[in-house]
Amino acid sequence: MDFISVFNQYKEVSISGRYINNSHIEPLLSILKDNFKVEILGYSVNKKPIYSIKLGTGKIKIFMWSQMHGNESTTTKALFDLFNYLRSDSVEANSILEHFTLLCIPILNPDGAEVYTRVNANQIDLNRDSVDLSQPESQLLRKSFEEFQPDYCYNLHDQRSIFAAGDTKNPATVSFLAPSFNDSCDYNDVRLKAVEIIIEMNNELQKHIPNQVGRFDDSFNINCIGDMFQSLGVPTILFEAGHFQNDYKREETRKFIFISYLSSLNYIKSKLKNTPQIDLYLNIPQNKVNFYDFIYKKIRLNTDSLNLITNFAAHYNEVLVGDKIVFEAKIVEVNENIIRNGHQEFDLESGIYYDNSNNVPEIEQIADFKVDDVCFINGQKTV
Ligand SMILES: [Zn+2]
Repeated sequence: MDFISVFNQYKEVSISGRYINNSHIEPLLSILKDNFKVEILGYSVNKKPIYSIKLGTGKIKIFMWSQMHGNESTTTKALFDLFNYLRSDSVEANSILEHFTLLCIPILNPDGAEVYTRVNANQIDLNRDSVDLSQPESQLLRKSFEEFQPDYCYNLHDQRSIFAAGDTKNPATVSFLAPSFNDSCDYNDVRLKAVEIIIEMNNELQKHIPNQVGRFDDSFNINCIGDMFQSLGVPTILFEAGHFQNDYKREETRKFIFISYLSSLNYIKSKLKNTPQIDLYLNIPQNKVNFYDFIYKKIRLNTDSLNLITNFAAHYNEVLVGDKIVFEAKIVEVNENIIRNGHQEFDLESGIYYDNSNNVPEIEQIADFKVDDVCFINGQKTV
């Protein structure tokens, strides 16, 4: 299957960028109602509806939920691309609908999505609430899980741009995990099913983003929803949409998530063997914190008290301003030996550093500065 052209054909163009909340998806849900079962499953802390979409009539049941963390929207965008494909009435799409029943919650945490936070309106991380079930969103997820009795779970997230695929200079554009079900991180038949599906998605992704797929840390925490569902006997896969070169809006990554969804469905439908070669999973390099967004090398500090050459790094904070996410580059490290790589690196060849305060880069300062005559605003070199 030519996944890229399928994606291009069915991409849902009305949603894009990082800020996605209920108001963005509601118009789409009212269109999808014609083909699929759209429901309000329940309500958030602030009484916002939490929607579900049920697709297909097949025996194999997959439960997918996205934006459990409100500011993690890439997997949500890719879900709507998948929905468009599945209502295309093509032979392949209809075959998926005949084999599967998919229950999807596109935004589990609509309050967090609205204000662009990881946590819900009570400041609780829903992905640490799977034992306490203290929040309405967690209770609703658990209730849906119990009623639907899925064969597989897809736990859909975004990860920060700090992660590399192992010890490489490649961002972890997509990372996966078959979460642990016990402290010793053993592999049982349940976990191995998740492993097998990840191997297939990785095989497909390597054709498109070679060496940019990572494997998330598997230390066991039963408060995390993936670990909980895996321990309850349902093969569960964590998806983490990450950084692709210069793609801060995550529109490229969205495509690779779509490919992951579709390649996994095609695989489960016809080829799942339950005998994965676990090495192929363990060979996916583990995620490593290895990036800042910007590194500036060899600046000369030349003040009354200082004359030295050093390096510094800046990293973006995502700030919701009106209905847009603004990327604000702040200085995060000043050090002769910065271990991490930069998504952008500048060799400033011992040029003299100036800024609007005391001509020394300081942690938390916005990255607006000059080096000799070269001007940087919000981290970026101006031309
Ligand atoms: Zn997350």
